[in-house]
Amino acid sequence: MDELFDELNKISLTKADQSLAKMTTLQIGGKAAYTVYPETDVALDMIIRLLKEKNVPYKVIGKGSDLLCSDHDFNGAVIKLDRYFNDVIINDDVITAQAGESIIALAIEAAKHGLSGLEFAAGIPATVGGTVYMNAGAYKSCMADIIKEVFVYRDGKLEWIPAKECGFSYRTSIFQKHQDWIILAVRLQMQPKEPEEIQALIENRRMRRMASQPLNQPSCGSVFRNPEGMNAWELIEGIGYRGHRHGGAEVSSKHCNFIVNADHATADEYIALVEEIQQKVKEKYGVELKTEMEKFNW
Ligand SMILES: Cc1cc2nc3c(=O)[nH]c(=O)nc-3n(C[C@H](O)[C@H](O)[C@H](O)COP(=O)(O)OP(=O)(O)OC[C@H]3O[C@@H](n4cnc5c(N)ncnc54)[C@H](O)[C@@H]3O)c2cc1C
Repeated sequence: MDELFDELNKISLTKADQSLAKMTTLQIGGKAAYTVYPETDVALDMIIRLLKEKNVPYKVIGKGSDLLCSDHDFNGAVIKLDRYFNDVIINDDVITAQAGESIIALAIEAAKHGLSGLEFAAGIPATVGGTVYMNAGAYKSCMADIIKEVFVYRDGKLEWIPAKECGFSYRTSIFQKHQDWIILAVRLQMQPKEPEEIQALIENRRMRRMASQPLNQPSCGSVFRNPEGMNAWELIEGIGYRGHRHGGAEVSSKHCNFIVNADHATADEYIALVEEIQQKVKEKYGVELKTEMEKFNW
């Protein structure tokens, strides 16, 4: 093992040469030289300082449910908060949750406490931090609807940023413009409601997802953002790409905006299909489809 590994491992649990395919829901990607699991804010700060000092690139990832990683190895550190940053504190109708907590687990916990607002998120296989970063949403609701403030590590300091300063809009936040900021926790303003009513809505959403999304195949959710006033899936349907395949990557026949890893797809096969769709949609409709998923390590 190299010197950096030893130094990182002294601060927090570190693993070498872990597969990014195993850290992402799409199951595509090379290996990351280091994967670090900080336990505290202080450990995180020490890790970032060390990586910066050694000029080693790093990336915080949640459940990897929005990432298309290249097949190349990442000669840097992946920082994962989902192992230790999962405290949840409920104070009346306000929830404070650490960034590594599963948003599904949080939605279920909120329902048990009779707190409404996260029903839309109960089927999103993500961390709290990832959903804040993406302003994840569904069924006309999104994280920004309930976020009061976000606890962030930036420029070596810890700060609470009020929601109005987070630049939230459709699948967008200020955090996408500041790759070096790390979301550590979020405070959510919930609404009291009967637990049974919340659970019924979660169940209804779950059934809708099961009926409409290819949840039994590896994917990164919706590949394209919906252009203003349009549905990306309808445009893809319109170019006749439902079920269309390129190597191991396939447009889901269940949901055209999901491109699944149907059979050991490579990152190149996957992106080739994404670009083919963008080109055909542009030719037929004059619309530029923008990706919702993020490319990492290309
Ligand atoms: C089956 C399926 C269904 C989905 N359904 C939906 C849906 O209904 N609505 C929706 O909006 N999305 C959906 N998605 C997409 C995805 O789950 C969301 O975009 C989610 O917000 C990503 O969270 P994550 O924790 O997996 O983040 P990752 O994919 O790990 O990371 C995404 C980005 O967030 C950044 N990031 C993650 N954590 C932090 C942090 N703590 N601090 C700073 N940056 C961070 C990463 O660096 C990266 O740039 C779905 C995906 C799948 C596979």
